[in-house]
Amino acid sequence: MSALADTIVAPATPVAPAGLAIVRVSGPAALRIAARLFEGAPLETSESHRAHHGWVRDAGGRRLDEVMALVLRAPRSFTGEDTVEFTCHGNPLLVEDLMAAAVHAGARVAEPGEFTRRAFLNGRLDLSQAEAVADLIAAESAAGRRAALEQLRGALSARVEGLRAQLLRLLADIEASIDFVEEDLEFFDRPAARAETDAVLQAVEQLLATAADGQLLRAGVRVSLAGAPNVGKSSLFNRLLESPRSIVTEFPGTTRDVVRETLRLGALTVALEDTAGLRTETPDPVERLGIERSRRSHAEADVVLQLLDATRPASADECAAVAALDAAAAVVVLNKIDAHAAADDAAADDAAAFATLDGARAALVQRGVAAQDAGRLACVAVSATTGANIPALLESLAHVGRLRRLSLQNDALVTINARHREALLRARAALLEFAADAVHSGPPELLAAGLRGAVLALGEVSGEQVTEDVLDSIFARFCLGK
Ligand code: GDP
Repeated sequence: MSALADTIVAPATPVAPAGLAIVRVSGPAALRIAARLFEGAPLETSESHRAHHGWVRDAGGRRLDEVMALVLRAPRSFTGEDTVEFTCHGNPLLVEDLMAAAVHAGARVAEPGEFTRRAFLNGRLDLSQAEAVADLIAAESAAGRRAALEQLRGALSARVEGLRAQLLRLLADIEASIDFVEEDLEFFDRPAARAETDAVLQAVEQLLATAADGQLLRAGVRVSLAGAPNVGKSSLFNRLLESPRSIVTEFPGTTRDVVRETLRLGALTVALEDTAGLRTETPDPVERLGIERSRRSHAEADVVLQLLDATRPASADECAAVAALDAAAAVVVLNKIDAHAAADDAAADDAAAFATLDGARAALVQRGVAAQDAGRLACVAVSATTGANIPALLESLAHVGRLRRLSLQNDALVTINARHREALLRARAALLEFAADAVHSGPPELLAAGLRGAVLALGEVSGEQVTEDVLDSIFARFCLGK
């Protein structure tokens, strides 16, 4: 019996007390099974897209709840199969009883992701769209949600399928020539074929370049707080989150591990990481471990907030750290401007001067940071203690090159995930091979082989060409009932 032959049932809403809950039945026997539970209009003869009021009964014929039954006939349902959605009261025990009644009537409890898997197998969605369903449910930021919706709408599939269709046409011409090699007939123009595959290659490169954006949107932006012990990393971390999360102490080197929290920044979700200070010399093994972790955190971070202490000159190490920063992925933060202003009456109006970008830059240069670095990097002067200028810090974070496009983006982006990337990398390799063979006037067989490889690899994005294992791993990410 094929997997699609049985009828499946699962709650489509979380199993928790709520106003309403939806139990979905999908498969060839959905209408018959639903009709056996339902007391009301005859569902089996109902038109599609009709909601019926009535009661559901358990196996013993006892009324369980007053419900609405929505009938969706194949192929006009999410799965492409006959589907009945019962909307009942949102009581978890009731949902369980309704499920049990459906199972008694002949349904099987669905696996996680099985509804979407069926939608894919029935051609309602291609694979990248099915993945977008999971992304949409899991998205933690507005930008991530928009990107998932765009993918669900088929934006990525359309692009990749367009490229694949182009290659297929070319492949047909080249294959036709294989049969006529003896006669020295070629049904394709080599330079034109090269130009066409080069254009496809370029489009593939463009899609590959969206992987980093895709990663930022799916996983959130990782922002790491860097700086010497005692510059105020933990204090700033807490200020940014406005919740006491990591230990703040007067002793250097006590934040031994990486503490992580997320916050929203415009349309993005930011995972903020507070790490141990980077002290190179320390006898304490636990602290050394923390330092090791923090090094890794900085290396993996999408954006680094590099903290300096306004109450003292920058050390040689700190200046070197600032010089090493990537302007597209860092903000220099001069912290403790409150203490500075208090300690130095002559500079009492510094607090106001600090507030501007130029003020922050000048203050950094005063403390020994190279003018060239202060000039090329985003800089803000803040006080973690008083909260002064924290909004400006968030603002400049959102404008850091790497995030600007994403955080300010109003239109959704086409981005790729790790699986798409693998497939596109294979397509690229095959196209490069084709280009090399074309240059060396390779025989049509060789050219055809290269193109076929590219066509197969592109087909993996939409799921034209995938194994059961790949499907299993994709749908395992889904929650039950989706
Ligand atoms: P970390 O080692 O970099 O994580 O630094 P902490 O956050 O533990 O702060 C070290 C010390 O600096 C603590 O005594 C904080 O109270 C103090 N501190 C942190 N930020 C500020 C600030 O903006 N102004 C003042 N005056 N003190 C601060």
